[in-house]
Amino acid sequence: MNDTLLQLKTIIQNASNIVFFGGAGVSTESGIPDFRSVDGLYNTKYEHPPEVILSRSFFDEHTGEFFRFYREKMLYPDAKPNKAHIALAALEQQGKLKAVITQNIDGLHTAAGSVNVLELHGSVYRNYCMSCNKTYPMETIAQAKDVPRCSCDGIVRPDVVLYEEGLDQKLMQTAVRAMLDADVLIVGGTSLNVQPAAGLIRYFGGGNLVLINKSETSYDKYANLIIRDKIGETLGAVV
Ligand code: ZN
Repeated sequence: MNDTLLQLKTIIQNASNIVFFGGAGVSTESGIPDFRSVDGLYNTKYEHPPEVILSRSFFDEHTGEFFRFYREKMLYPDAKPNKAHIALAALEQQGKLKAVITQNIDGLHTAAGSVNVLELHGSVYRNYCMSCNKTYPMETIAQAKDVPRCSCDGIVRPDVVLYEEGLDQKLMQTAVRAMLDADVLIVGGTSLNVQPAAGLIRYFGGGNLVLINKSETSYDKYANLIIRDKIGETLGAVV
């Protein structure tokens, strides 16, 4: 085990309230591409970039096109939790990790067994009718030929936060509380450029900030430990 991994192992051993904050990089090791990355989802089959298609105004104006993209590029029903998800679930079981805060919508932390998961951007596994609020499983969206409809004929939409939509404020408050209470914050798989979720880490006042990311982040100068490696390999090696 190299020096940085040993440091991480020691930090985790001495911690009693770890919070993990994760982004798209946590899911890429499960085969789910980051739609923001250059070689990610964008391809010429769509006339608009993903950030446009995944916006509320696009959803309202081009609902069929939104769902065509969403079904093809946002749903990964066969994806499995990777070593990062599994290690974090184990840390929660040991009583060390108190919350996973994620920007991902793929439900893989829950699938790995994590219980206290704060999904800031929602989940593809929750869907609801925009007219009567009836809830639907992912299959309703995945199997619909065009725009998924409720038995009341309302549109069934995923409970995910689209561009131009605000985050759930109650959930944000819970996430802020977790940050304030944490003694170790591990940030992984995000360059911390997406607001307002990324601003959350300003609330962390504990002793050890650990960043695990392949590229630089805007918080590198505040970090106690920086690991430029795959997050699954890293967490899998120390937990
Ligand atoms: Zn309905």
